[in-house]
Amino acid sequence: MGPGWVRAQNDVLTRSHFRQILNNGGQRILTKTCATCHGTSPDVKFSCNHRNCNGCRALKSRTYQAEYARKHRARNRENQRVKRQEYRAENPHLTFYSTSRYLANKASTYSDLTKEDALDIYETPDVCGYCGKAIDVSVKRSLHIDHIVPMSQGGVNSRWNLVKVCINCNTSKGDGSLVNYYGRCPDFTEQRYEAVVNEMVRLSGRTRAEIDEILTLSHSFEIAFQNGRRQMVGALRVLREEERIECAI
Ligand SMILES: [Zn+2]
Ligand SMILES: [Zn+2]
Repeated sequence: MGPGWVRAQNDVLTRSHFRQILNNGGQRILTKTCATCHGTSPDVKFSCNHRNCNGCRALKSRTYQAEYARKHRARNRENQRVKRQEYRAENPHLTFYSTSRYLANKASTYSDLTKEDALDIYETPDVCGYCGKAIDVSVKRSLHIDHIVPMSQGGVNSRWNLVKVCINCNTSKGDGSLVNYYGRCPDFTEQRYEAVVNEMVRLSGRTRAEIDEILTLSHSFEIAFQNGRRQMVGALRVLREEERIECAI
């Protein structure tokens, strides 16, 4: 045993300990200071005889890797853009899958859509479920998938709440209820309405009465929302007018 240190009970010295002691001129290193964070407490761990603590070394390595990845992405940005476009063109259902799940999360509504569900809806015939017109998929953004009960009303992001529609119907229906759109769109025949509702019944495994109730609720929700909005607009108008009168006085 060299000077300056006492061997504790059960303290087994390994080869790396001896190396450390040798490097330190025969003095045992009882505490070690990290060259980066200058931590010296016993909690600061060192591997072998590194000058920097394990925490600092891991952080440095992570920073280096992140920086490397950033540079790599910058170098390959154009390449990636092309790849992403190709991927989206080949797998439109996966784009819908991730986008709809993101939107469901944003609208705080339930989502159990799987990739298989997304593929399933894409594989249905390219015909609008509402107006019955054929969808020309060669035209960009012509194919839309509508949430029958809108997600803004709490409509779920599940296979049974989805229908393939044309761009006109999707834009026109907007965040409205199915019943409302059925009343407004002349091409949305009773036969097609029945087909949409029956498909909801089949896919959800619910009864017709249950689906009808959901659709009625969706319609009442829409009317209540519109009434509420009208009242709010009216109240704000009164406030504005009162302000104007006060200013005039
Ligand atoms: Zn450190
Ligand atoms: Zn349509």
